[in-house]
Amino acid sequence: MFSIWGLIYKELKKHRLKKNFRSRQILLSFDDGPDSIYTSRLLDLLKQKEVKAVFFVVAEKAARHPSVIARMKIEGHRIEYHSSDHRKIFYLGPKAAKKYIENGLHLLHAQGISASYFRPPWGMLTPFYFHAVKKAGLKLCFWSCMAQDWRARSKATEIKDRLLRRTIDGGFVCLHDSGEDTGGAPGAPARMLDALSGYIDSRRACGYEFITFEEAEERGLLS
Ligand SMILES: [Zn+2]
Repeated sequence: MFSIWGLIYKELKKHRLKKNFRSRQILLSFDDGPDSIYTSRLLDLLKQKEVKAVFFVVAEKAARHPSVIARMKIEGHRIEYHSSDHRKIFYLGPKAAKKYIENGLHLLHAQGISASYFRPPWGMLTPFYFHAVKKAGLKLCFWSCMAQDWRARSKATEIKDRLLRRTIDGGFVCLHDSGEDTGGAPGAPARMLDALSGYIDSRRACGYEFITFEEAEERGLLS
């Protein structure tokens, strides 16, 4: 069941975020990890650039990589919820959707993560899924800008150019730190990391501010 309702909801929210994130404020978010190779490299880069991000993690992967999760916490990044195992959920009925959301939350709790926000894989929602997310006390969180960094044919220079073009006023950027089991191409995060390093330097040189998830919340940018 493809949900037109979910698609409309997502686009409305993205449009809202785009308006909120004007004034040259940028928040970086990373979906689909933690990854056994790339998330540690990404954390190295963020540390070097002194940028804090929000990670929308896949709960089963978080359970497999507790040391990476611990490092995210120690280094001051925010961790939120991006489903149990990143499957497509169109076929789930109300009970199964509720169970699916709760299973992932239990895995995150076992890692000491209390998620408040949920970003659905591919931004896709059905009314059952929407209801289950709300019932679990989670807020939905989309993005204002992507850069097709998950594609096999995206070069680092193309990803960087897309980011620069699409955050000319600022933005809530969604990138991907895993190429495993999520729809992203194998090796794609290596090109994302190349692009990101140059992107942060370029934006900083022009006076843009990289804000934290908590600052975005405080400034009312997420709602
Ligand atoms: Zn995803």
